[in-house]
Amino acid sequence: MNITDTYKDKGARRLLVRELITKGIVDNKVLDAIGKVQRHLFIHNDFRHLAYQDKAFPIGEGQTISQPYTVAYQTQLLHVEPTDKILEIGTGSGYQAAVLIEMGANLYSIERQEKLFHKTQKLFLELNYKANLILGDGSIGYENAAPYDKIIVTAGAPKVPQSLINQLKVGGILIIPVGDEKNQIMHSIIKKMDGSVEVIPLQAFRFVPLIGNQAW
Ligand code: SAM
Repeated sequence: MNITDTYKDKGARRLLVRELITKGIVDNKVLDAIGKVQRHLFIHNDFRHLAYQDKAFPIGEGQTISQPYTVAYQTQLLHVEPTDKILEIGTGSGYQAAVLIEMGANLYSIERQEKLFHKTQKLFLELNYKANLILGDGSIGYENAAPYDKIIVTAGAPKVPQSLINQLKVGGILIIPVGDEKNQIMHSIIKKMDGSVEVIPLQAFRFVPLIGNQAW
């Protein structure tokens, strides 16, 4: 793979960061990470010239790399601290994962599509991104490394899987889009001392579906 980051790529990335600020992203740590991750390496070379547009693109297997605004919005809601152990469900292209790694997260990321899993694993080796990438059904979480400080779901779920709440630390945050297959509402869920949760519904999004035991 040709890992080049041209002046054109760098300039386009700066413009993307400015666009995200105008769209309401305020967390500088998130903006810095978006400014660092070379999104053009996470999508097919045919789309390279469009890589820093605020758009989702196909990544194969009927899946998509999320729009940068969506990645920034979900990441901002996670309130990432450098030592956080974070579980991502839906590795896909690895772009969201790379943003979290740039922010210092100790990342576990799970993907159910074998081809995407292997592709992203190879890319992370080439880019020297360190993460625990797992092939499997993330709708049941990943018990082996639980509990997590934060969990982020990057596919649309019909309901909040109880296993994800169980695998969250007290005070931990789960960010998950919940709804039908066409529209979902982003939810921020905070686990309390007594094991109950505070659920905050936020704005609408459209994700590819979360498929699995605790999903569609
Ligand atoms: N975070 C990704 C990125 O940055 O490219 C976004 C990927 S896409 C919007 C959602 C991903 O979730 C797809 O790759 C899909 O295969 C995956 N997915 C769906 N259901 C899943 C499940 N139960 N466990 C793990 N991954 C799942």
